[in-house]
Amino acid sequence: MSDASYDTLILGAGAAGLMCAAHAGGRALVIDHAKAPGEKIRISGGGRCNFTNMYAAPENFLGGNPHFHKSALSLYTQWDFIALMDSHGISWHEKTLGQLFCDGSARQVVAMLMQEARAAGAEVALQTRLVDLDKNDNGFAAVIETEGRQNRVHARSVVVATGGKSIPAMGASGMAYDIARQFGHDTTDTRAALVPLTFPDGRFKPLAGVSLPVRSGAGGVSFDEAMLFTHRGLSGPAILQISSYWREGEAITLDLLPGQDAFTVLREARQSAGRRNLSTVLAQLLPSRLAAWMTEELDLRGNLADQGDAALRELAARLQHWQLTPAGTEGYRTAEVTLGGVETGALSSKTMESRHVGGLYFIGEAVDVTGWLGGYNFQWAWSSGAAAGRAISAARRGGP
Ligand SMILES: Cc1cc2nc3c(=O)[nH]c(=O)nc-3n(C[C@H](O)[C@H](O)[C@H](O)COP(=O)(O)OP(=O)(O)OC[C@H]3O[C@@H](n4cnc5c(N)ncnc54)[C@H](O)[C@@H]3O)c2cc1C
Repeated sequence: MSDASYDTLILGAGAAGLMCAAHAGGRALVIDHAKAPGEKIRISGGGRCNFTNMYAAPENFLGGNPHFHKSALSLYTQWDFIALMDSHGISWHEKTLGQLFCDGSARQVVAMLMQEARAAGAEVALQTRLVDLDKNDNGFAAVIETEGRQNRVHARSVVVATGGKSIPAMGASGMAYDIARQFGHDTTDTRAALVPLTFPDGRFKPLAGVSLPVRSGAGGVSFDEAMLFTHRGLSGPAILQISSYWREGEAITLDLLPGQDAFTVLREARQSAGRRNLSTVLAQLLPSRLAAWMTEELDLRGNLADQGDAALRELAARLQHWQLTPAGTEGYRTAEVTLGGVETGALSSKTMESRHVGGLYFIGEAVDVTGWLGGYNFQWAWSSGAAAGRAISAARRGGP
């Protein structure tokens, strides 16, 4: 077994790990068990990577401590990342709601981060796994394995950037949580988030493929975005967003006519076109397949003129306060992120360093900070990665 010494050993060549390497400088080794770095970046945003959000602010993140992420987000902002993209000549555009995507390909972001990390002096070892990690008086001693060969690595700092549990087929593992616990850190319960919701008995199967703008609500939070019916249940941005706030056994609320007052609309229609039947009116308000399905489900019969205020109010409530209890979620198999992770109470919010073990850092999705859909999760990876990288660089140079 050979021995090698580094200033920093970074576990995970994903979004946060590569960003950290780009800022840490010195001798850094980044290891990853995957064949290629930044695989989630590559597949993100339909291959165009929604790399940040122009409006990223602390309110767009969830976590046990609603203040923890503020510091890192303010020290490396969306504008810093945009400037980095611009300096590499990578063109981008705003799609909607401040969400920024590459004009070309997400691969450009991976290439940029690899270039930045290597320019800062980092080596990247792929198809390499961590076998053992220990702390001693001089720092950390790790055993890593590449193609069956084991090597010992000594490092003053170790950064855990192995992400969360989402998409195990892409190599997601719970390793960050195991390392956290090994060094005396607590981890919160974790759950799949930004994930489609499922419903029993193929309830929405006949509607699969129908989409419409809605306001989705759960846990006191609501989102105005598009919703999509699927064979298994509900998806689309409005549902992915609310999935982070939904808990088992609870109902979600859907407003199918956001920004309108359904009762007023129906009453006015009764006055101006009382002879129209209810299904025709519904078809003017909703996509035709959904209108037909709802007409049957609610057993709507007769003309508008036949409906009293109470009946119209009942229909309006169904359209704007539709309560649905999901059976569950599609789980980590399709979830974009993991909610929860390494508890933030024992981490420095400025540097991401462990308060228990000097030189040990946790960054990115592994930490109990989760962003909304829309580029926020990458922003957290960039901000927390830069925070740790800068702290490591400052410590190496004897700074604060
Ligand atoms: C399909 C999909 C689309 C997404 N789209 C977007 C988007 O457009 N915008 C957005 O902001 N967010 C998006 N996300 C979320 C975003 O990808 C993550 O929040 C982000 O990648 C987290 O960065 P990270 O560096 O913490 O983890 P990761 O990027 O997951 O990197 C972790 C790295 O660690 C490696 N690793 C894991 N376990 C081990 C181990 N045991 N040993 C060695 N290496 C290990 C992995 O191979 C990986 O390279 C998307 C997620 C998915 C799944």
